[in-house]
Amino acid sequence: MIDLRSDTVTKPTPEMRKAMAEAEVGDDVYGEDPTVKRLEELAAAKLEREAALFVPTGSMGNQIAVHLWTHPGSEVIIEARGHIVNFEMGAMAALSGALPRPITTTNGLLSPEQVEAAVNPKVSYRTPTRLLCLENTHNLWSGLPMPRELKDQLVAVAHKHGLKVHLDGARIFNAAMALGTTAAELARGCDSVMFCLSKGLAAPVGSMLVGDADFIAEARRVRKLFGGGMRQVGVLAAAGIVALTTMVERLVEDHRRAKRLAEGLAELPGVILDPERIQTNIVVFRLARPDLPGDETLPPNARFVAAMKEHGVLCGAFGKEEVRMVTHYHITDPDVEHTLAAARTVLGKA
Ligand SMILES: *Cc1c(COP(=O)(O)O)cnc(C)c1O
Repeated sequence: MIDLRSDTVTKPTPEMRKAMAEAEVGDDVYGEDPTVKRLEELAAAKLEREAALFVPTGSMGNQIAVHLWTHPGSEVIIEARGHIVNFEMGAMAALSGALPRPITTTNGLLSPEQVEAAVNPKVSYRTPTRLLCLENTHNLWSGLPMPRELKDQLVAVAHKHGLKVHLDGARIFNAAMALGTTAAELARGCDSVMFCLSKGLAAPVGSMLVGDADFIAEARRVRKLFGGGMRQVGVLAAAGIVALTTMVERLVEDHRRAKRLAEGLAELPGVILDPERIQTNIVVFRLARPDLPGDETLPPNARFVAAMKEHGVLCGAFGKEEVRMVTHYHITDPDVEHTLAAARTVLGKA
């Protein structure tokens, strides 16, 4: 099977397996795991911040930040298709009593004006706005990278109004490679940053939460509160170190393959996709093909996904119209060509 459902399906590299087997470990809840410490120092250095915390999932990293930057009954400004508000089980409400203020955009990029307009006035009868969440790359917007200049403007507006800024940088290294800059530049000014080791970087488990030393000390407390204190977890951190040191530069290959996939798909009948917009490893397109054969009770995108599976290709369906394909470490050039050939068979030539 060619698995394009997500870059989360990546398996640890041989070098990771070896590092995991040989990892020096200790009880990390007591702060005694040397491999976790090494990973946390490496992550902080990469992002040019004081400190970092190893967390089991990206969602936990995001929700620890939300918990620390909000209080019950306060609002969080976020782009309407953001992961934090759509794919984290309503955690900001369930765990922190915070309310999302989702802002709809036409291209996935919040504008400083939109953020400014969404901040409630500081009066005793209006819900306090506490946090701005940014996402880079933006998952549901075809892995769109957010340029540093826009991030700087958004951070400036947020800070002017006394808001904190959390960056959901699950794929921050994809953004950095695509924009020809560093993750540190793309995160500068944000009060906290989360990034994933377990996506395109191919580590089996884990994400990092990064910020200043006081924030990370508090984050360590909340990680335990949320049930995320881990013991001899150096076996996982060891894979994370390999991920951060060996898997970042090669992300450009995933981007090149996603672009090729997008260009091929865009030529097929019913595929609504501008390949120019595909800059990283995620291809999201709309499918306007109500005539597609298959299970009539399913929307056309789900019928497409089912038909592709028959041809040995796994991809994802979102809503009633969207299909998502994600390139990663295990996807080769021939896999991309096979996928395009399968899509041509399923959709017919234009
Ligand atoms: C994957 C992802 C996360 C974290 O997901 P987990 O499955 O909890 O690790 C957060 N934000 C974005 C944008 C993601 O794509």
